[in-house]
Amino acid sequence: MKTLKSHVCGDWYEASSDFSPLYNPSTEEQIAQASTSGIDFKEMLNFARSKGGNALRNMTCKERGELLGGLYKAFYGARDLLISISVENTGTTRRDAKFDVDGAISVFQYYSALASELGDGRFLLDGEGTKLGRSARFWGQHVRVPLDGAAVLINAFNFPLWGFAEKMAPAILGGMPVIIKPATSMALVTEVGFETMVSSGALPEGVASLVSGSTGNLLDEMGSQDVVAFTGSSGTGRKIRSNENLRKANTRVNIEADSVNAAVMGPDVEPGSVTWNLFLQDVRREIIQKTGQKCTAVRRIFVPTEKADALQTELVAMLTEVVTGNPMDPSVTMGPLATADQLADTVEGVKELLADTRMAHGTGERIDGVGAESGKGYFFGPTLLRAADAEGATAVHEREVFGPVATVLPFDGSAPSAAELVGRGGGSLVSSLYTDDESYVGAFISKGGSYSGRLYLGSEKMAEQAFGSGVAVPQCMHGGPGRAGGGEELGALGALNLYTQRVALQGGRRMIESLFGSS
Ligand code: NAP
Repeated sequence: MKTLKSHVCGDWYEASSDFSPLYNPSTEEQIAQASTSGIDFKEMLNFARSKGGNALRNMTCKERGELLGGLYKAFYGARDLLISISVENTGTTRRDAKFDVDGAISVFQYYSALASELGDGRFLLDGEGTKLGRSARFWGQHVRVPLDGAAVLINAFNFPLWGFAEKMAPAILGGMPVIIKPATSMALVTEVGFETMVSSGALPEGVASLVSGSTGNLLDEMGSQDVVAFTGSSGTGRKIRSNENLRKANTRVNIEADSVNAAVMGPDVEPGSVTWNLFLQDVRREIIQKTGQKCTAVRRIFVPTEKADALQTELVAMLTEVVTGNPMDPSVTMGPLATADQLADTVEGVKELLADTRMAHGTGERIDGVGAESGKGYFFGPTLLRAADAEGATAVHEREVFGPVATVLPFDGSAPSAAELVGRGGGSLVSSLYTDDESYVGAFISKGGSYSGRLYLGSEKMAEQAFGSGVAVPQCMHGGPGRAGGGEELGALGALNLYTQRVALQGGRRMIESLFGSS
């Protein structure tokens, strides 16, 4: 059995005690163990700050982009290996594993290409310069410089590669070294990804470190120039935010947490239309992709009351065709949940939702998987619940069930009701609105827009090219208000804000422009 290693102060490190087990979720066989006992986290931070920080600060934006280009090539070359490890460790089908692996590849590629447009400077201009005195000789200009610390990237179990890549690429482009901390249960995939980066030779010493296991006292050693970029449950997010040392040092903490995302069907959408079919196809994908273990998955399906039965019938027919089981079996289209804890939490969560709903499809219990030994594996079939009405289904607006579970919620179809109901989730990463009526979007957005980080607008016009509401792309911001954590990631150059200090320069225009260029 494999013992996972961390990468500390430029070297691989293997602990010798206090291990946590990692399992294959289809067979329940232990496949690896991980521990961070014995790591000196203070030294690890100092090494990253000094070695890695200096290396990046001495590089131009273009050179940092070339570094990311090297990581893109390394991941692209290791794509098949990474997909296979992901199937074994996370239990996803190959198709779902590609979502994570290709997501990581595309984020390195995107930020590498973006860097090539930033030129030979080592700092980024932020907005346009402005005249401060009587004439333009006295000039003001905002610039962004790298923070003089290390960024600790703590990730959820569901994206062991994309999860760190989407944080690491902007951190490196911004000039900050990173310490990657995956969820322990899926750390095997991240370790192989890290090994891929190290052996590519693209990473200067200290630019990236790896923590395979718990964080020990890492957060207690962080300072005011460091950053925590966290993705996970809102409970853990709260714990990290209330860490006394981070609060005292005023360390930047970005939280990406959970979310009860909504899909809303507008009243103009008729059964059989292009937009109706797009809605069905997207919602089906959101329920089953990665076995519903996506922070952006649709949990609440709002449908005008008179169309709820028709929609439910078609959706149940689609879910009936899903084959749940061991992804090594070629007939399987949905894998198991990732861990025993995830399975227990999903079973418990469905019980809680059933207080306000009834079962439209599914059992609410663990099932045996196709191609898996009877009684083994964390299998849970696609599940559709139905509420009598959206207003009364309190638990559905509050409880995130992190599995292949969603609820049909009939409502009056009006835009103000849709906005109010979406808001009852307390803040979401993404809400999707399906309508061909522009005025409906306009009426929804002034209130409903404030409760979502992203609004996905499904319509006939974009249906052919639509990739679904669950995909976070590097061009657009990922994050959401309130319960979703209040954080922001991605969104092109906006992602660099977390890892850089905005400095207002006030001085002679010629000096400022010759040092930093002009906007
Ligand atoms: P989790 O239990 O909150 O764990 C997330 C990460 O935090 C893991 O790496 C975990 O490490 C670490 N962690 C736990 N306690 C910690 C502490 N006291 N100090 C420092 N680190 C700590 O979440 P999960 O079960 O992995 O992921 C599922 C949740 O993540 C869902 O609620 C989902 O909605 C959310 N999520 C959100 C996004 C987003 O972008 N907003 C994306 C994906 C997932 P260990 O594994 O070692 O405990």
